[in-house]
Amino acid sequence: MDLLNTLVDKGLRRESPTREEALAVLATSDDDLLDVVAAAGKVRRHWFGRRVKLNYLVNLKSGLCPEDCSYCSQRLGSKAEILKYTWLKPDQASQAAAAGVAGGAKRVCLVASGRGPTDRDVDRVSDTIKAIKDQNEAVEVCACLGLLSDGQAERLREAGADAYNHNLNTSEATYGDITTTHTYADRVDTVNKAHAAGLSACSGLIAGMGESDEDLVDVVFSLRELDPDSVPVNFLIPMEGTPLAKEWHLTPQRCLRILAMTRFVCPDVEVRIAGGREVHLRTMQPLALNLANSIFLGDYLTSEGQAGHADLEMIADAGFEVEGAGEVTLPEHRAAERGGCGSHAGGSCGSHADGGACGSHAEGEGCGSHADGGVCGSVPAGAGRGTGAPAEPAAAGEARTDLVAVRRRGAGTDLAPNA
Ligand code: SF4
Repeated sequence: MDLLNTLVDKGLRRESPTREEALAVLATSDDDLLDVVAAAGKVRRHWFGRRVKLNYLVNLKSGLCPEDCSYCSQRLGSKAEILKYTWLKPDQASQAAAAGVAGGAKRVCLVASGRGPTDRDVDRVSDTIKAIKDQNEAVEVCACLGLLSDGQAERLREAGADAYNHNLNTSEATYGDITTTHTYADRVDTVNKAHAAGLSACSGLIAGMGESDEDLVDVVFSLRELDPDSVPVNFLIPMEGTPLAKEWHLTPQRCLRILAMTRFVCPDVEVRIAGGREVHLRTMQPLALNLANSIFLGDYLTSEGQAGHADLEMIADAGFEVEGAGEVTLPEHRAAERGGCGSHAGGSCGSHADGGACGSHAEGEGCGSHADGGVCGSVPAGAGRGTGAPAEPAAAGEARTDLVAVRRRGAGTDLAPNA
């Protein structure tokens, strides 16, 4: 297919596809899907080999947010039966982080619900970053605390943060349909603040909120322009108790096309499959490793992921390898542009004092602000996602609440984390 040859050539040259080419990827037929995956896989392997970076989420503060992001189980007025708690103490957070690192994670994402941190909150998170770095100097720490005020990104960097996550989530044109309490421009501003402070910027999207192909292409092109080091791709987990609870639009094939398009537009950037991986890709998860070079290990912010050991087995079975703490995630040219950060090793992030990120709570990530989606009260606690007998194969639009479970373990609970 000429389109795919063109996209591979461009990807290897770090050149952007045209909007029409990106749209054409989303419009490919199921018959062509494996060719699309193979083509984007060439770009992925050129820049990232067969390595998979593991990230681990620690939800520092859960629920009770005054913002109204429609996808979020932690939003104002959410009826989702998620865990709700205020700031974890530094030792509690570092204990949770240690479980992720022991499971193979090289980045810990510290997420807190809310519009943005107060200066006191930045102090708390700084203490937490120090506690994590005291325990393991090599671990990357990414903070995801919402919208930043002037000076806060610099303070986080001084405290040792390596990265900051704040997701754009969707296109500028549709942003107001998803959230009314802050704007798309607010989000762009925070990503720019993180950049300016020398933090590795992490910013991504949430697919499955009823957006068009054009919206998806818009947001991914906007991300390319913002030039983050990592792009988390969340697939909406329609949590019961949120306004988007009935929005089941994604199929595994659609998710693969979205990831492939993101890879072609952001060829040398860490593309991370974030929240909704298990729910929407389901048995196609291993195929997606040919497109993304990064995933979250274990659970999300307010919902459960598959067991950590299942993530590791999937990576090995698919012929990939977990990226080691001593390996640099980003391609050489990118790591050099960033002064070595965006993934340590060798290069040293000396200037950062050591430090890692989140998006703005989208479960997906953290705070895609916090898009995990969040939670589904209909699933019994402890049931675990995907552990029940599978229902009939679902088409797009058909709810699969059997695949969604509220997180009841790890940070903020007495139960061991899933890593
Ligand atoms: S995404 Fe973040 S800012 Fe938005 S409602 Fe959820 S916790 Fe609050």
